[in-house]
Amino acid sequence: MAKCKVCKDKFEPRFFLQKTCFNPACLAEWQKTERESKADKTHKQKKKELKDNDKSYRAKVAQQAFNAYIRFRDSNDPCISCQRHHTGQYHAGHYRSVGAHPELRFEELNNNKQCAPCNNHLSGNIADYRINLIKKIGTEKVDWIEGPHEPKKYTCAELKEIELRYKQKLKDLL
Ligand SMILES: [Zn+2]
Ligand SMILES: [Zn+2]
Repeated sequence: MAKCKVCKDKFEPRFFLQKTCFNPACLAEWQKTERESKADKTHKQKKKELKDNDKSYRAKVAQQAFNAYIRFRDSNDPCISCQRHHTGQYHAGHYRSVGAHPELRFEELNNNKQCAPCNNHLSGNIADYRINLIKKIGTEKVDWIEGPHEPKKYTCAELKEIELRYKQKLKDLL
């Protein structure tokens, strides 16, 4: 005996994997449900593909993963600019900004834990950032950051790769 997927009545199946009883209404109802769940899956798949190929979305989530790693890497450090340890919010602050230097947006040396007030008023605190960055990584590396860089164009696949790499790097620190 089998149980009808729709009306839940017991029936004796006449063919392999029979899902519904012999009431045509049950069969029709079952087929409709199947069609809808298939359409739903296709819809979800399409949405995922759209996100996979949306460069600004991929850049955003890659930056989030990267920033989370930087904040954790520097969790014992004070704010790179004002050198305060305080209980407020912290960001991963770019020394050379993403807007002006997108090629350095995923450069670890160019990113350091920074308090929200300094990060939100970055232009006001970049001089202190520089002084403390030199203390932290040395003049040579700061010179390198300040030097010329090849422009970078990331593909969606590369951005996805960056996201996964930094999620893993964060996990490795935990
Ligand atoms: Zn039925
Ligand atoms: Zn600060």
